[in-house]
Amino acid sequence: MELFKHIEPTAFATVILPLAMPKPLTFYIPYELIERVKFGIRVEVQMGKGRDLYSAVVIGVSAEKPDYTTKPILQVIDDEPIISVLQLDFWQWLSRYYGCTLGEVMNAALPTNMKLSSETRIILNPEHDQNFSELNDQEYLVAEALTIQKELTIDQIQKILGHRTVYPIINRLLMHQILDIKEELQQKFKPKVVSCVRFKEPYASDTEGVSMSAIFDQIKNSEKQTNAMLAYLQLIRNQPVVRCSEIYEKAKTVDLGVLRAIEKKGIFEIYEREVSRIGGYGDELLANPELSTQQTKAIYDIKKAFETKNVALLHGVTGSGKTRVYTELMEKAIENGGQVLYLLPEIALTTQIISRLEKIFGDKITIYHSKLNAHERVELWSQAFGGKPIILGVRSALFLPFQNLKLIIVDEEHDPSFKQQDPAPRYNARDAAIFLASQYKAKVLLGTATPSVETYANAQNGKFALVEMTERFGGLQMPEIAIVDMKEETKKKTVVGNFSSALVNELKEALKRGEQVILFQNRRGYAPTYTCSTCAWTSECKNCDVTLTYHKFTNALNCHYCGYTIKLPKECPACGSKTLIIKGFGTERIEDELKIHLPEAKIGRLDLDTARTKTQHSKIISDFEDKEIDILVGTQMVTKGLDFENVGLVGVLSADSLLRFPDFRATERAFQLLLQVSGRAGRKHKRGKVLIQAFDIKSFVLRDVQNNDYTTFFNREIAERQAFSYPPFVRLIAINLKHKKPDVLREAAKVFSKILRGRLGDRVSGPATPLVEWVNTYYILNYLIKMERDVAKLALAKDIIAEATHELQTLEGFSNVRVAVDVDPY
Ligand code: ADP
Ligand code: ZN
Ligand code: ZN
Repeated sequence: MELFKHIEPTAFATVILPLAMPKPLTFYIPYELIERVKFGIRVEVQMGKGRDLYSAVVIGVSAEKPDYTTKPILQVIDDEPIISVLQLDFWQWLSRYYGCTLGEVMNAALPTNMKLSSETRIILNPEHDQNFSELNDQEYLVAEALTIQKELTIDQIQKILGHRTVYPIINRLLMHQILDIKEELQQKFKPKVVSCVRFKEPYASDTEGVSMSAIFDQIKNSEKQTNAMLAYLQLIRNQPVVRCSEIYEKAKTVDLGVLRAIEKKGIFEIYEREVSRIGGYGDELLANPELSTQQTKAIYDIKKAFETKNVALLHGVTGSGKTRVYTELMEKAIENGGQVLYLLPEIALTTQIISRLEKIFGDKITIYHSKLNAHERVELWSQAFGGKPIILGVRSALFLPFQNLKLIIVDEEHDPSFKQQDPAPRYNARDAAIFLASQYKAKVLLGTATPSVETYANAQNGKFALVEMTERFGGLQMPEIAIVDMKEETKKKTVVGNFSSALVNELKEALKRGEQVILFQNRRGYAPTYTCSTCAWTSECKNCDVTLTYHKFTNALNCHYCGYTIKLPKECPACGSKTLIIKGFGTERIEDELKIHLPEAKIGRLDLDTARTKTQHSKIISDFEDKEIDILVGTQMVTKGLDFENVGLVGVLSADSLLRFPDFRATERAFQLLLQVSGRAGRKHKRGKVLIQAFDIKSFVLRDVQNNDYTTFFNREIAERQAFSYPPFVRLIAINLKHKKPDVLREAAKVFSKILRGRLGDRVSGPATPLVEWVNTYYILNYLIKMERDVAKLALAKDIIAEATHELQTLEGFSNVRVAVDVDPY
């Protein structure tokens, strides 16, 4: 090294660091590394006061010296590029469009195990067998140290190895799945299980059927058990495994109780079987079913549209069979080595669609969701790189290194969870997908029963093609939707708790007919407020400006913003009286009231509290599928893409709470939610019924929902957006300023307002105090900027915001003010 010290560096590399730095930085490449540094590889560099080490991605190599003193690249981590030029272009587009740094985009894009920094703490992968025989000396030293000491910092590893640059070694150990990065230890993905049934010994090995008469002898006194047996025997003839639910389907009088009775007699055994992640249950793949006329036409129209347009909207009513249209197009797209990206709002909420697609595509499909652990993420990364035909994923799947992308499907394109809220990049996956597709010359299909206003406007003005499916599959009628006038029922005193007599009657009827019910309630928890009826004390979060929500199951008060939890006080903390009362209602409350109205019914609840993990969620869904639940009460989760065959009734407890939200998208959201949840009723054999309870029965939205009339809804909504200058007529940029001290924040806002208004004029509104002005110990102020739909002006506005932020933060006292920019906010 000494030898080269006096030599002027001649080669420089520009890199992205995983930090919120405005620009990529350039480092010099020491002579001995020149051969190895190239585009797309990671290198190890040192940055900042603490001389912290980072892994950075090289995005340019040049002989040109920048006009600042450069530091050296310390070490090369990869031999081959980990990203492509196309990926970098995508990152750059995101960073420009959403007004954030390349470092922030890279942080979102790379799997954790590909990012290393001084804060990284290393542990052994608990799933590794600790056979270290393949390791070289240095790797062995690190692994060995970790068997003694549970975790190591980068510092400690440097000491153990006796040199400064350790990332290449750590990287190899990570890629061989010997190590894990500590922060990232995630709950392991648990495959979905279903209840199945099979013969017990000795019947199981009786392939000749000699014991058949003995079996029927034992159950001949029960007609239900006999029916169950007949159904089982029929099913097992054609398939390797029989699910309990398939028996219920065949023999309508049979339920779990009947199967358990046969199990008690030692004939059957009920067991849980994993629906393997690949290939579905049974080992056979299912063929795509034959297309309906409507589906054939839609496919024809979409193909035709793709000849001239890059994006098509498939607007198909709930139950029209959009999935089958997707699978047809997917099959075509992958025929000659093409890749398909299938984007879904939230994987946890869509177990049904996953298993349907897995059954058709088997191991051609792989799933990218937020519960993957660090190694699985890297594995998916290399699968995409290796040309995996179909990747089904949540929004972040956009960042995978595709090779030959031909088609992106955005299912439920209207869903707000395609928008990332925090941290930056605050991107909308639907919109980003359209850019990504254009890079690969791939096509985009947006599918939904309730298009977002922006998307439908694009279909109307010809930017997107529009393809419609107006009928349900199999000629099934759209559900009958009735509005219950809660004012009237309240007057007549026929409302008990939150249930109108109309809803209770329909519930009883549906259950009597052996149908299942879904009840939708917008709020989770038992009650949003808990107050003292003597002194009006309310329980408030100590970190946020909100009242705590009572959760009966844990008997605790809980903040839905920051998670702060306290036990329910026995008496009022303010005045000591024992007169604490519950106000408002949520899903848990509904569940309790139901038990009073319908003590016999089996009730299940689906919300963020009961379905924290994917496994819990799947369990509730499969219990409902298996008819172990009669009535499923839930939040928005029950509105998403579920397809149950036996749901005769859907009830909405309070439409008013949806309509009264102070946001320009409130009407759109209400319409979408109500229509989507209605779509869960009567999906296969018969027309379903929907009951919507509301005080404001004259609402236009309710009328449109009742008539299943998207066009009228859209025409009214678009006129309002135009009248009040909202998207798609303008582009919105939301900015929020945060600080722990309210006076510092107020002063900062004064400065910030002045800079912004000076250059953007009255396009700027704010600072405004948000509904919840204090979250997680930070005070918040909001700005909203309305920009003309003009690419150049929009770009300029983002520059101005970046400059204003920089100016503010360099002023004395304001360096800690946090500024978050959100382009196209939701
Ligand atoms: P959507 O997503 O449009 O709401 P789905 O794709 O869930 O509708 O289809 C609704 C129902 O119709 C599902 O139960 C599905 O299995 C069935 N279905 C759709 N297309 C076909 C087909 N071509 N053959 C048989 N069943 C179909
Ligand atoms: Zn009190
Ligand atoms: Zn809180």
